[in-house]
Amino acid sequence: MVVKQSICLLGATGSIGDSTLDILRQHPERFSLFAVAANTNVKKMTEICRNFLPKVAVMGSLKARDALAKQCEGLPIQFEWGEEAMCMVASSPEVDQVMAAIMGFAGLKPTLSAIRAKKRILLANKESLVTAGRLFMDEVAKHNVTLMPIDSEHNAIFQCLPQNASGFQKHHVSKLLLTASGGPFRHWSLEDMRSVTPAEACNHPNWSMGQKISIDSASLMNKGLELIEACWLFDMTPDDIDVVVHPQSIIHSMVSYDDGSVIAQMGVPDMKVPIAYGMSWPSRITTEVPHLNLMDVAQLDFSAPDLIRFPNLKLAADAWYMGGTAMAHLNAANEIAVDAFLNNQIGFLDIATINQYVLEQLPAVPVTSLEDVFEGDKLARNLAKRIILSGKNL
Ligand code: NAD
Ligand code: MG
Repeated sequence: MVVKQSICLLGATGSIGDSTLDILRQHPERFSLFAVAANTNVKKMTEICRNFLPKVAVMGSLKARDALAKQCEGLPIQFEWGEEAMCMVASSPEVDQVMAAIMGFAGLKPTLSAIRAKKRILLANKESLVTAGRLFMDEVAKHNVTLMPIDSEHNAIFQCLPQNASGFQKHHVSKLLLTASGGPFRHWSLEDMRSVTPAEACNHPNWSMGQKISIDSASLMNKGLELIEACWLFDMTPDDIDVVVHPQSIIHSMVSYDDGSVIAQMGVPDMKVPIAYGMSWPSRITTEVPHLNLMDVAQLDFSAPDLIRFPNLKLAADAWYMGGTAMAHLNAANEIAVDAFLNNQIGFLDIATINQYVLEQLPAVPVTSLEDVFEGDKLARNLAKRIILSGKNL
């Protein structure tokens, strides 16, 4: 008999939220929705509340909470707002699994609350692991939590590593091969990339995702964040990981072993696959995702990333080796720079320039508490904002 799992979905109105709700819709006998949380999208949250009737719905502000409560009048749902309420639902005794799919650093505190309450963590929010790294993993170990990577590459690596009851183990692994689509500007010159628009940068060739991660994919910052994410998750260093550009996004990543074997995980690029795996592990469940037809794909290509045109990938490796707050600095600078690019305040190539400037200017300090991470995040955000406001030619 399957024991029904109760889910808390953080970031319910986003792209990962959509895919998670699809899995819930398909498997009502296995999963129930206890709580949903999102920032400001009242319209979408209203639809979710009407369709799924969670017990609690949390919005980012009082205004959004009140608007949602009004739209959902008469429904048996408790409406809350703010970070504390998100932490509360993520750690509620009624929850088994928490999908951490808030975008950016804002996801850190609710995810940590879920870890401390020993929930199964479905980790999509890579920024929380990148910024709080060692503290995050120490909490996972201390509370003996099952941490399921939802990022497709890390989910693939998890599937390719030998497993035992407590998760994965590193056995004779020589390298991790982290695949990257290369994004929409894979073949573009630096000159052409200088004038790309947010719409062009958001137009990912293979994956349909939220705006911020789409820009990160175009600038290869996403792969940089994923490099750091893989280091923390699988106890590796950037030198143990090769990034492989694979434009078809059919192989989601690979593990290379000492004996010369390379194990890959493949499938059509659809986040419902890693989400369903994370939710059902160590078992598997069906999804409505079309099965891979290799005859249709016909060809798989591989090449090395170009670090001159896409310096963010190198910056991420540098930040890892700098250690301490450097990863929080890089992430914060990038969140500010991406936001400024989306608002047409800076050009596409300025994102990496700002990231590099902030990483070089702010000394990395050791992380001994969460306050160190928040302080590093704040300093980097302020510095990035100052550069953007000054219009300084970097
Ligand atoms: P999205 O922009 O589509 O959705 C983001 C969600 O987070 C929304 O529900 C939004 O309301 C919520 N949110 C944003 N700021 C918030 C705040 N301050 N407080 C509370 N909620 C807030 O993003 P997405 O594409 O779904 O990505 C979500 C996370 O998953 C990101 O960390 C991303 O890197 C990661 N991820 C996404 C994909 C993908 O295919 N979309 C793949 C791998 C990893
Ligand atoms: Mg990914």
